[in-house]
Amino acid sequence: MPANPYLQVSGLCKHYGEGEARVSVLHDVSCAVGAGEICVLLGPSGSGKSTFLNLVGGLEAADAGSITVGGTELTALTPKQLGEYRRDKLGFVFQFYNLVPDLTIRENIEVTAHLSANPLAIDNLLRSLGLYEHRAKFPRQVSGGQQQRCAIGRALVKNPGLLLCDEPTGALDYQTSKEILELMETVNRDFGCTIVIVTHNDAIKHMAHRVLRLRDGQLVENVANAERMRARDLTW
Ligand code: ADP
Ligand code: MG
Repeated sequence: MPANPYLQVSGLCKHYGEGEARVSVLHDVSCAVGAGEICVLLGPSGSGKSTFLNLVGGLEAADAGSITVGGTELTALTPKQLGEYRRDKLGFVFQFYNLVPDLTIRENIEVTAHLSANPLAIDNLLRSLGLYEHRAKFPRQVSGGQQQRCAIGRALVKNPGLLLCDEPTGALDYQTSKEILELMETVNRDFGCTIVIVTHNDAIKHMAHRVLRLRDGQLVENVANAERMRARDLTW
């Protein structure tokens, strides 16, 4: 157990379908991720990783169990409050970027910014993501890696406490994947947000403070990397 958990999940269960079509996807999953950790959630395709992330992100409702993020229990929120949580506290990064094709790179980041966001702050964010020169282009005019940087910027502009990433490098080549993961380490250090990265790629383990593993909807591994945690003054 981390000493200072940011995400706490207890007894989480989820199924899809009914009768013969019923599939149980998560069985009694309990875990915690400490504030400031990078947590890598591994597991083969179909093991329930995206479902877990969608529940934590408030995109779907659990059958049973509780999810607490930064002291707020999601399962106790009204739909309106859940919408506010998603809008204000949470960043989501997807495999296929999910940018709005008719908005420029800058506009894709601006859409999630609070009305009070300083335009200079957005310029600085664009610079730190290496996107400033590309700010007036549309997503189709930049590379996959640049589109994913834009998606990360869109998530970061609201200063989320928690960044959830579902196979963020799944569509990228080796070198670009490496750059995106390095960017996430920088984000973790500089923005201080807790990050959960879902992937089927075990090679990503090296960057984790904590590794979780799902198999057939059950949590079969929960290991903290003591050395990496010490290097960042994290405790567990
Ligand atoms: P992963 O991300 O690890 O590949 P998922 O969480 O996407 O796994 O899926 C876990 C299981 O749940 C799979 O068997 C998948 O077919 C099933 N599943 C996921 N979403 C749905 C859905 N909306 N309706 C029915 N079954 C689903
Ligand atoms: Mg998935």
